Amino acid sequence: MSRKFEGFANDAEYHTNPHYKRGCGVGVLLAGLSEADRTEVQAALDRPELSAVGIAQALKSRGVTGITAGIIGYHRRGACACGQ
Ligand SMILES: [Zn+2]
Repeated sequence: MSRKFEGFANDAEYHTNPHYKRGCGVGVLLAGLSEADRTEVQAALDRPELSAVGIAQALKSRGVTGITAGIIGYHRRGACACGQ
């Protein structure tokens, strides 16, 4: 049987370390876009009437996977590492 928690403390340390903070999925996405595209996506994020679920679906329809409504919510509230 493999040891599921081998090196667990090292993992926790890695995730705790400040240099790990490189932004959430939304921040990483925005950083990788052209300025025009980034403005477009940011405009949607800045409109409170657009739901996080709706934005996540719209991203998915453009081929962006792995960004959930939860991550978008965190990013909008500034609860992610992007602004730190
Ligand atoms: Zn973020």
